[in-house]
Amino acid sequence: MRCPECEHEEDKVLETRVVRDGEAIRRRRQCAACGHRFTTYEYVESSSFEVEKKDGRREPYQREKLLSGVMRACEKRPISRAAIEEMVDELERELFRSGTVKSDDIGRRVMERLRQLDPIAYVRFASVYLNFNDIQQFLVTIQEMPE
Ligand SMILES: [Zn+2]
Repeated sequence: MRCPECEHEEDKVLETRVVRDGEAIRRRRQCAACGHRFTTYEYVESSSFEVEKKDGRREPYQREKLLSGVMRACEKRPISRAAIEEMVDELERELFRSGTVKSDDIGRRVMERLRQLDPIAYVRFASVYLNFNDIQQFLVTIQEMPE
């Protein structure tokens, strides 16, 4: 970590502590060149974009929430936990680039992927995610699906 005083890049960690109920790690460091002491924090990266909900409110993206919705749709289907995690990883990589994401957009992206993975999981997820106005369009979409 570069020293804020002299910009030297080597330092010694004097103290490491878990803080904020386990959400962060705080390190006291000392520059190897000038002896200056400074503090750094580490956080989990997955809270770094926000989700805008249908009513306009925003909340930090929560991977667990998305994961549990997808897993519910995939229950007793031949889709492994690893395949689901991989799908969510891929989705996150796309979404990190966008900053703020609409919840509708996340739902649509999940549906696109489930549609290719498993038709039953796709229909289940859609029935939870879509509102009544989308149902007509959805019925058309199902009729266009390959056997
Ligand atoms: Zn220094």
